[in-house]
Amino acid sequence: MPPHKVIVVGGGIAGIACALAMSRELSPFVPNLQITVFERHEVLSTSGGAINLTPVAQRHLAQLGILAELDRMGPDGGADVDAIELFSMRSGHSIGSIDFTDQDGNGFGGYKGRRVMRIVLSMALMNVVECTRNVEIVFGKKVVGGAEINDQAVVQFDDGTEAIGDLAIGCDGVHSAIRTRWVDPDRPSEYTGMSFLQATMPSDSVSSRIHFHSSALNISRHGSMLTSYCDRDRQQIFTAAIVQFNQDDFSRYRLEPGQDWSTQHRIKGALRDEIRSRFGKSAIPCVREMVESKADWVLYPVYQVRPGGKWCLNRAILLGDAAHAMPPRDESAAYALDDAILFARVLARYRSEPLVEVFSAYEGLRRDTINYAFKQSRRMWDRNRDMGFLEGRLKEWMMPFSLRSHRDEREAAWEFDATKIDIPTPVPSEDMVSLHSFLRERAP
Ligand SMILES: Cc1cc2nc3c(=O)[nH]c(=O)nc-3n(C[C@H](O)[C@H](O)[C@H](O)COP(=O)(O)OP(=O)(O)OC[C@H]3O[C@@H](n4cnc5c(N)ncnc54)[C@H](O)[C@@H]3O)c2cc1C
Repeated sequence: MPPHKVIVVGGGIAGIACALAMSRELSPFVPNLQITVFERHEVLSTSGGAINLTPVAQRHLAQLGILAELDRMGPDGGADVDAIELFSMRSGHSIGSIDFTDQDGNGFGGYKGRRVMRIVLSMALMNVVECTRNVEIVFGKKVVGGAEINDQAVVQFDDGTEAIGDLAIGCDGVHSAIRTRWVDPDRPSEYTGMSFLQATMPSDSVSSRIHFHSSALNISRHGSMLTSYCDRDRQQIFTAAIVQFNQDDFSRYRLEPGQDWSTQHRIKGALRDEIRSRFGKSAIPCVREMVESKADWVLYPVYQVRPGGKWCLNRAILLGDAAHAMPPRDESAAYALDDAILFARVLARYRSEPLVEVFSAYEGLRRDTINYAFKQSRRMWDRNRDMGFLEGRLKEWMMPFSLRSHRDEREAAWEFDATKIDIPTPVPSEDMVSLHSFLRERAP
């Protein structure tokens, strides 16, 4: 029997995409399908700044109807990104680019990159859910644990209530409760040693010439600084410094709800000083101006989940960051979307099989890709740690070669389409094999 009551934990990219993809794939076979997404926040979170969507992410968002929704939002629906240009903060010179278009200026499979505020993407996800039969989202439900009881998936909330389903899907991000309290308690999230310091500012508050077309990564030996438009009218600039940051210092730099005015004022000042000390001498005038601006910087420590752990038990599976959060390199949201679409397709194809067969087929399609992606992001990420003078020069000098040598691999990855991956044919379960051989023996 295919599952008809599905619990999704987490209303982020993976959770909503998975709910929408399952609705599309399973509805034709499961008329009474009921998918409930439980999200811990009471309302959509406005934090998180802007996110870059790669061509693969855009393709998958388009397939789920979310890209059309973003486009309907007008200029706020995000800035088109043809390329992320790379600049040296030391010399101010260009040192290459990550191109989201081919030589003729076309996107990969029709899609380029896009930078959009996270809150806008969340609103687009919610708008599509609202129009989707058999998917419901419940806010203000924080999951604190889960168990398999009487052949059912049971998730427990912090208000003492429970939800029961045939299947639970943990899409609750890097610190996932479904992972740490149920599926794989031995795999906590771990700090990567690097953090983002982010701010958004009006473009017209910057008077120097903007040195990039839509998006730039400005590198130095004290970390990198992303500068990007995040709306179609280029009214807003999103900037994120990717820097090595000591975990012991978090308490001195983290803005928390409930802090008094003077604490907030002190933290904002300290973050500004941190940014200034790293990038205040940049050779790029507009970067210097952004660094000196009165913008409120916010610290986002970046966590990861080591690869190789468990993704599933009998009735629960992890998708997206809950399963495999890796240091972000503009691709992670795409992996969450790939997971969601592939899992829904496998579930539909294996609908007559036990869930463990579904999970095993899905893992078979996904593990190697994720392990490889993790290794690649770790390698790229390490380039942002603090370096000495010579190592910094070497990094800068090597960058164009590195960009060129990984170009084909990058572009091939952007052609990926989770709706076109061949799903292996289900192998009949033991019972079915015995039944078939019994029938064969009985046959005249
Ligand atoms: C600073 C930073 C910048 C990034 N920039 C990019 C980028 O530019 N491009 C890119 O592709 N990727 C980027 N990423 C990575 C990307 O954000 C994630 O890979 C992606 O959001 C994963 O989606 P997800 O749905 O798995 O997890 P999340 O987006 O984390 O969503 C998890 C959801 O679960 C909810 N939740 C958590 N715990 C519970 C609970 N106990 N009960 C109920 N609900 C719960 C959360 O509130 C949230 O809504 C970045 C990550 C960071 C940290």
